[in-house]
Amino acid sequence: MRKSISLVILLIIVVAFAQAQVKSISQYIEQVKALSDRSDVKGANAYIDLNHQSILREWIAITEINAPSGQEQQRAKYIEGLLRQYRLDDIHYDSAGNLIAVRKGTGVGPVIVFDAHMDTVFQPGLQIKVTIRDGRVYAPGIGDDTRNVEALLATIRALNEAKIKTKGDLVFVFTVEEETTFKGVNTFVNQNKAKIDQYIALDGGYEGFTYAGIGINWYRYHFIGPGGHTRSRTPPYSATLPLARAIARIYELKVPASPSSNLNIGMLGGSEVVNAKASDAWFSVDLRSTSNEVIADLDKQIKTILDEEAARVGMKVKTDVISKSPAAAIPGHRESYLVRISEAVHRVMGFDPPITNAGSNNSSAALLAGISSISTGAGPCDGAHSLAENCEIEPLYKGIKKILLLEVALAGVE
Ligand SMILES: [Zn+2]
Repeated sequence: MRKSISLVILLIIVVAFAQAQVKSISQYIEQVKALSDRSDVKGANAYIDLNHQSILREWIAITEINAPSGQEQQRAKYIEGLLRQYRLDDIHYDSAGNLIAVRKGTGVGPVIVFDAHMDTVFQPGLQIKVTIRDGRVYAPGIGDDTRNVEALLATIRALNEAKIKTKGDLVFVFTVEEETTFKGVNTFVNQNKAKIDQYIALDGGYEGFTYAGIGINWYRYHFIGPGGHTRSRTPPYSATLPLARAIARIYELKVPASPSSNLNIGMLGGSEVVNAKASDAWFSVDLRSTSNEVIADLDKQIKTILDEEAARVGMKVKTDVISKSPAAAIPGHRESYLVRISEAVHRVMGFDPPITNAGSNNSSAALLAGISSISTGAGPCDGAHSLAENCEIEPLYKGIKKILLLEVALAGVE
């Protein structure tokens, strides 16, 4: 009897402990809601509401300074000038050229990084002039990623105006080379990973967020044959024949929808002239999946097809790896504190957030280093990486409030 009573007590303790550990999403929502009802957080939101025009002006001014990947210095100088006007604890550049600004907390909280990238995909010398019509703002780079650069600046001002003191440190990183080499984020993460608790990459996104990164492998495959004139003896064929056969077969491969995966052959080429058999026929492959196993399996099947088709016509295969970045996932991350809080923030802001594991931005570098990380953004935009890029203006102000709520929810407030 005694034994069974103590067993029951033990069971109750275990269940209670488990419940305390696994907070439900509604508890996170309550926690975030209470935070958003605080008068200082409301004050910060009021500041954002009162400053729509100056936020828009600054967003435009930053966008009009072109910042091709690797040539972000002029835009960085401008942002630095703004940061120097705020009460911040540290403003500096690191060895990669990232601009870093620290808003220290009381020292009893976590270190939370917010990242927005400064670089664009546009060529040096492009004259950028922003235009506004029908509630939208048009310019190359206005969305990717200038909307999020501006969102961070606006939240810093709003936090200061409302005299919000966080417990943890907020580290704002304006990164370089997101669009090309990821040199900015890789340098920052490598130099700071031991100190970072959570990493929020603001890039794209508005209503939802990602909590894992998709793996992306880019290749250029060549069939190398003897070539020849159109009228030379056949076979040998033009190297375009195994290329055509291989492409047809690769498109027959089963590419799973779950885990989310994609395969695209977007570029191809052969001889330079009509009257020659190609001695080098090539095509590109863009292979993506949230699972590294799926990528490895499709890689293997593609390799087999290429080898078989080359052997069939007595040719060789040459492979150029353009780039490779693995899928970035932390086991159980969907249930992590960061992801739960982020979901709660979105719900409190009135979003029904899509939460996906297929991000493709600076967040992956943090996840690969084992740092809990999400990516989201401050506003809805269209036409990223095109000259017709544009964003809705009005939602940005709500997006800025969302980022601010995320900042105080993660860093904690006094
Ligand atoms: Zn971007």
